[in-house]
Amino acid sequence: MLSTRTGRNCFGKRKENKLHPHCLRLSIHIDEGEYANPLGSRKGKNKMTNICFKIGNFDPRINSSLDRIYLALMVKSYVLKKYGYKKVLQPLIEDFSQLESDEGIPIKTESGVWIMRAVLVHVLGDTLALHDIYGMSGPSANMFCRICEISRNNLISGNFGGNFYIRTVESVQNALISSKDGQQSSVLYGIKTSCALHLLKYFRWPNSQTLDPMHDILEGIVPMIIKKILWEAVYRSKIITEHEVNQLIDNFEYGEAEMRDKPSTNFTKLSLKSKTNNLSQSAAQCWLLLRSFPFIFHEILKHNENHREIIAALLNITYISFSHKLSSEMITCLSDSVTKFHKLFRICFPTTNAINKIHHIIHYAQVCRENGPIAHFSCMMFEAKFKKSNAQSRTCNNFKNLSLSLTKRLNLKQINSISKHSYFADRPVIFN
Ligand SMILES: [Zn+2]
Repeated sequence: MLSTRTGRNCFGKRKENKLHPHCLRLSIHIDEGEYANPLGSRKGKNKMTNICFKIGNFDPRINSSLDRIYLALMVKSYVLKKYGYKKVLQPLIEDFSQLESDEGIPIKTESGVWIMRAVLVHVLGDTLALHDIYGMSGPSANMFCRICEISRNNLISGNFGGNFYIRTVESVQNALISSKDGQQSSVLYGIKTSCALHLLKYFRWPNSQTLDPMHDILEGIVPMIIKKILWEAVYRSKIITEHEVNQLIDNFEYGEAEMRDKPSTNFTKLSLKSKTNNLSQSAAQCWLLLRSFPFIFHEILKHNENHREIIAALLNITYISFSHKLSSEMITCLSDSVTKFHKLFRICFPTTNAINKIHHIIHYAQVCRENGPIAHFSCMMFEAKFKKSNAQSRTCNNFKNLSLSLTKRLNLKQINSISKHSYFADRPVIFN
């Protein structure tokens, strides 16, 4: 039987599938993108849901270019909402079913016939998209976690721990049956409908859980913590003014390679006092700001030992979460840093309600142990891929069927890159 789990252990080494050792392991990524001017009258009409896939069998050294991500589907979001995943994804599910069947797809080569088989192992994306495709309630539901059964009350009361029941195929099925029977509300348990991808033979989402460090850390926890620390320094301790914050960020000497992601100097009274947890910076900018934070704001961190330690713990978590090679010591360190971060969060910001992402990181060590480095599930590359199509949407002059023009252009570009790419490693990979 094919394994639905990924084929890598914590050291990034592949676990071989004994029956079909050359079976391809596919991950699909799902995301929504706005292609019209967000302030214009056509806002929402050209909102697209993009699904693309990546082959996980290759070493990240030869598999990390944007050309190694293949477009599977581009559909207007309102069409998807109207007809549902089961209907829209039907052709894709049929293809996957053929690929995962024992017959596979025979391909004639010079040395004979080779049977291509592939299996879907992971679905990646932001929380909203994943909850939608899995048939779960939104991230604001009572049981908001895809991996365990933590409730909203636990999160608010400061119990971020990993001591909750883990969701299994059976528990999800039971919740679905009891919500259909009217025994409990679907909102309470967080499961609304069955997942369209369960029509496949091997894919069951509770068995292949992953979390995305880009959305959790760089677009969630990092901006939240930096904003809280700067707010306390500017308005509570009054060590620095918002003008000086901007000046320090602007004057810091970033490396040449990092200049592209230099953080924006957009800190104002309004932005620091607002209740949202974002900094209006991209994920790459937030990452750079976190790395340079101890150097730029060492004077602020000198005044508060706990703030210094929470930044150190966050730096550790970020470093290990984005490492493509992990040792068992690094996973233990990740687990310890997350525990330390949770403890410091309660001490530093006792009146702040934690966001879902603060709980998600408790599962990182376990995900790494089961599925290999969590960096492999980061959506950064996928998001970058669709930035390119955003630029093309402005030049293609197709105002009625935008998805047709964009898929044609993206696929032509893909064919060109496939014909030129070599999948052979040019030097041996040495594992310590
Ligand atoms: Zn959880």
